[in-house]
Amino acid sequence: MNKKCPICDGRLIDEKISKTFKRYGKEFTYHNIKAEVCQSCGDKFLDGPTITNIEREIREKVFEKAA
Ligand SMILES: [Zn+2]
Repeated sequence: MNKKCPICDGRLIDEKISKTFKRYGKEFTYHNIKAEVCQSCGDKFLDGPTITNIEREIREKVFEKAA
């Protein structure tokens, strides 16, 4: 299946990337996240469920530590 970049119409390929999320004034770095990377502009796109999982994990980490 060929997917296209919504920004530049370039070709998207599946890759595992590392990404740092800034939440609650802290940084959380995740590795081996499934993402689609544009071969033209280099933009990275994570799918909705992946982002939701990461957001939930970060929330749990932050609030467990605070408790
Ligand atoms: Zn692009």
